[in-house]
Amino acid sequence: MIMNTPRIGLAARVAGIKASPTLAVDAKAKALKAEGADVLNFSVGEPDFDTPPHVCAAGKAAIDQGFTRYTPVPGILPLREAVCARLAADHGWNYQPAQIQVSSGGKHGLYNMAQALFGPGDEVLIPSPYWVSYPPIVQLSGATPVIVPLDEKNDFDLDPTILAQYAGPATRGIIVNSPSNPTGSVLSATALKAIAGMALERGWVVISDDIYDTILYGAAKLPHILDVDPRIKEQTLILNGVSKSFAMTGWRIGYTAGPEYIIAAMNKIQSQATSNASSIAQKAALAALVGPQDFPIVMRDTFVLRRDFILRALTSIPGLSCVRPRGAFYVFPNMSAYYGRKTAGGQVIVGSVDLADYLLDEALLAAVPGVAFGADEFMRFSFATSMNILAKGMKRLATALTDLK
Ligand SMILES: *Cc1c(COP(=O)(O)O)cnc(C)c1O
Repeated sequence: MIMNTPRIGLAARVAGIKASPTLAVDAKAKALKAEGADVLNFSVGEPDFDTPPHVCAAGKAAIDQGFTRYTPVPGILPLREAVCARLAADHGWNYQPAQIQVSSGGKHGLYNMAQALFGPGDEVLIPSPYWVSYPPIVQLSGATPVIVPLDEKNDFDLDPTILAQYAGPATRGIIVNSPSNPTGSVLSATALKAIAGMALERGWVVISDDIYDTILYGAAKLPHILDVDPRIKEQTLILNGVSKSFAMTGWRIGYTAGPEYIIAAMNKIQSQATSNASSIAQKAALAALVGPQDFPIVMRDTFVLRRDFILRALTSIPGLSCVRPRGAFYVFPNMSAYYGRKTAGGQVIVGSVDLADYLLDEALLAAVPGVAFGADEFMRFSFATSMNILAKGMKRLATALTDLK
C-alpha cells in the first residue's frame, strides 16, 4: 500500500531567502571531518578562543544562584547600564538604559530593527561585499535590499557618488559594517560623513554594525559615523555584542543602542517573539563588559600576526590580489584569475562556488565562496585558526590552484 503523506504549504517568504551559506560550508567541512578527512577549515566566522574563565564563572554562578527566570524584555538593567558605560568610555557617547536593547545575539538585534523599521515598498541600502545575513533580514521585513557595490581598488571604501546613484525615494536606511565581514576593510571618515549627510537630508536610518570594533589593527582610531557627524545620533542604531569581542558566539548576546522610541518598538517585537535573551548569558555578558578588558587585546594581538602571515602567503600566489584587512579576522582575496581554468577531471571553474567546491573536494580546504557576500570574484578565508593550520592550508591552496590548467 502506498501512503501519500500530505505536505503543508510553506510561506512564500521561505522560498525568498537562502539558509546562511557560511554556516552551510562550515557544516559540510565538519561532516567531512567527522568521516575522518583531514579538512582545514577556513570558513568559520567565530574566534577560535574559548570564552574567558571569569565570564564562564559568571554564567555558572547565575545558574547556581537560581537566576534562571524571565528577565525584563529589553535585558537586565545592570547589563544595559554596562553597555551605556561602555559606549561612554570607548567613544564619549551618551546613552541611557532605555535606549538599549539586549537581544539573542547581534543578528537577532538586526532582525528586531528590520521588523520595527521596514516594510513592503521600503528600500534599504547595503554596500557589497556585505555580511550574508543583511539582505535576508531586510527581505524578511518585506522591504527590498538595494546593493551598493564597493570597489577592491578603493580598498572597499564607499564612494559617495556611487551611493547617490543607488539612493531613491523609497530608500529608508543604510547598513554599514566597519571593520567589515568579509573584507576586513574600514570605512573612511570621508565616506561616513557623506553617508551621514545624505541620511540627514533624506531622513534615513543608519544601522552601524560595530561587532568587530575591538578587533582593529594598527594605531589609527576607527572612524565612526557618530563622531564624524554627531547630528546623526537621532537617526542611528548602533549594533554590537559580545560574540566576537569576548569569544561568546554560543551564548547569544547582542545589543542595540539608539533613539528610545525605536528601541521601544524593537522591544514590542522582541516581547512577542523571544521575550528576552537568556538570563544566564546576560549575566555572563555583564561580567565580560565590566570585568578585565585584556582578553580582546590578547585576541587582537594574536590575530594580527595571523593576518600578516596569511596575507603574505596569499599575495605570493600568482594571480591573487588581496586588500589588507584593517580589522576583523577575514581575508577576502580576488580569485578570479583562476576562473575559466580546468580541473584535472576537465571541469571548468566558472565562479566562486565551483572554486570552493574544488578546494574542499580536492584539497580538503574549506572557505566561503564570495558570491555569498555578493562578490563572486572573491573568496573569504577566516584566520581565526592556528598558525599551523594557516601554514598547511596556504600550501594546499597554492598547490591546488597550480593544478588548475
Ligand atoms: C558575527 C557577526 C554579527 C553578530 O553575530 P551574533 O553571533 O549574532 O552576535 C553581526 N554582524 C556581523 C558582520 C558579524 O560577522
